[in-house]
Amino acid sequence: MTRTLRFILGDQLSRSIASLRDAEPDRDDILMVEVGAEATYVPHHPKKIAFLFSAMRHFAAELSQQGFSVDYVRLDDAGNSQDFRSELVRACERHKPDRVVVTEPGEWRVWEDMQGWAEACGVPVEIREDDRFLCSRAHFARWAEGRKQLRMEFFYRDMRRRTGLLMDGDKPVGGQWNYDQENRKSIPKGTAAPPAFAVQPDQTTQDVLALVGGRFGDHFGDLEPFDFAVTAADAEAAFEDFLAHRLASFGDYQDAMKQDSPTLWHAVISPYLNAGLLDPLTCCKRAETEYLAGRAPLNAVEGFIRQILGWREYVRGIYWLKMPDYAETNFLDADRKLPTFYWSGDTDMNCLAQAIGQTKRLAYAHHIQRLMVTGNFALLLGVAPKEVCEWYLAVYADAFEWVELPNTHGMVMHADGGVLGSKPYAASGKYINRMGDYCEHCRYDVKQGEGSKACPLNYLYWNFMMENEDRLADNPRMAMPYRTLRRFAPEKRARIAEDARRFIERIYGDPAGTEAA
Ligand SMILES: Cc1cc2nc3c(=O)[nH]c(=O)nc-3n(C[C@H](O)[C@H](O)[C@H](O)COP(=O)(O)OP(=O)(O)OC[C@H]3O[C@@H](n4cnc5c(N)ncnc54)[C@H](O)[C@@H]3O)c2cc1C
Ligand code: SF4
Repeated sequence: MTRTLRFILGDQLSRSIASLRDAEPDRDDILMVEVGAEATYVPHHPKKIAFLFSAMRHFAAELSQQGFSVDYVRLDDAGNSQDFRSELVRACERHKPDRVVVTEPGEWRVWEDMQGWAEACGVPVEIREDDRFLCSRAHFARWAEGRKQLRMEFFYRDMRRRTGLLMDGDKPVGGQWNYDQENRKSIPKGTAAPPAFAVQPDQTTQDVLALVGGRFGDHFGDLEPFDFAVTAADAEAAFEDFLAHRLASFGDYQDAMKQDSPTLWHAVISPYLNAGLLDPLTCCKRAETEYLAGRAPLNAVEGFIRQILGWREYVRGIYWLKMPDYAETNFLDADRKLPTFYWSGDTDMNCLAQAIGQTKRLAYAHHIQRLMVTGNFALLLGVAPKEVCEWYLAVYADAFEWVELPNTHGMVMHADGGVLGSKPYAASGKYINRMGDYCEHCRYDVKQGEGSKACPLNYLYWNFMMENEDRLADNPRMAMPYRTLRRFAPEKRARIAEDARRFIERIYGDPAGTEAA
């Protein structure tokens, strides 16, 4: 009888995970480990660490109830060597398995390390494909082969055809693939978003909170209040709450921002999807059912499905297709430090203070805050992509490199030179003012383009265009702003550059901004 040790990582908490599929309770052992190396390779938000440890402990308890023998190593167990490889070696010494079975990880650095596990343990290690995703790495590579441009929209259409989601034969339901044009409304005055879903911490979570507070309390972010779901059942309840109360308006207000309203009509399910507590295809099918039953409009349901079936699968495909070189590119040669206020929220620019402040409190910001507020500002300022990526990987509860890196490095920083997005998402304060009410509460004037009262994003935007003219002016999608820039008199250009220089000096204490702020 072959004895198998099945090693489950912290974001593989699905009963259907490939490495558990053929598991036999009376024959196999299951290994799960809380290790310091994973909690600290970037300074993860304490809520994120607590979410993962608590979800792991709950998952282990469920497996034990199903009769499995689970060897669970806690962070503070004596002898814990605090990294995956050494813990696997120790577990092999304890259990003496004939083989180890794992599912491929979500991060390149773990994948690379995994290649040496068999040698380190002295037993074969079978690495199985993570088939919780709807597009395998191999299928994405086939889709990408020979294409000049890897655009999400075409990948998404392929995925709609493959899954049959929102399809009417071989045509998209409603006649259009994408209803994004309808999804840019601002929130009418007096309209409040439904409250966010919250779960009370049980004893297991409280034990984890005490552990995390003691060990990682110095990381950026508030540990409590903690109201994440940490079981599949509670994650499903959170998703049902979204379907019942927020999906119908998800599309309309998808790009909107509102003071003191952090989650709006968003689903707030990314940590659950990424850790394996929710299944992406089931979520898409449930949303489709809401459309078919007439409870949610097509623009909302198509928009939601596109985020998961399109964007989520697409960024993962890009990650595995392009790593490890992808992370090293820096198309715009951006080299400034990340301003220190990203770690405190202490800035007089209200949009940034709001987005960073809620990130600190909740380990959550919605897509437009990540892309058009914290991301846009880092892009305009010319922060080094690696600094920005490290921040995004650390501060969000849903951050794993396969999804964080393409979004940050590619979509936000345009560091890949256009693999992921055909142009940088650079924007002035005008965009932020159009999509929300942050500017109403700001000490800067979003209508002014120059001078000490002017919104910094306005002159930083044109300064970015001037500094990157050689790299971006030939991009057909940038033709409009460059036509406008060419009409600027030399004096106006000089004033913009001077405003930007003064602002950068104020933030960093030196004109280049390459030293620590
Ligand atoms: C700079 C930057 C960094 C990001 N880092 C992460 C990250 O580390 N982890 C992560 O899960 N998402 C990341 N995203 C994508 C997106 O912002 C989050 O998935 C979303 O905000 C999660 O909140 P929600 O569940 O309320 O999403 P909703 O707006 O309700 O969307 C539903 C689901 O769609 C998926 N989704 C939406 N947009 C994207 C996208 N661009 N890429 C991948 N999946 C998407 C998510 O699973 C999300 O839960 C990042 C986006 C940007 C611009
Ligand atoms: S005025 Fe400028 S800095 Fe202030 S909130 Fe608006 S966009 Fe942000």
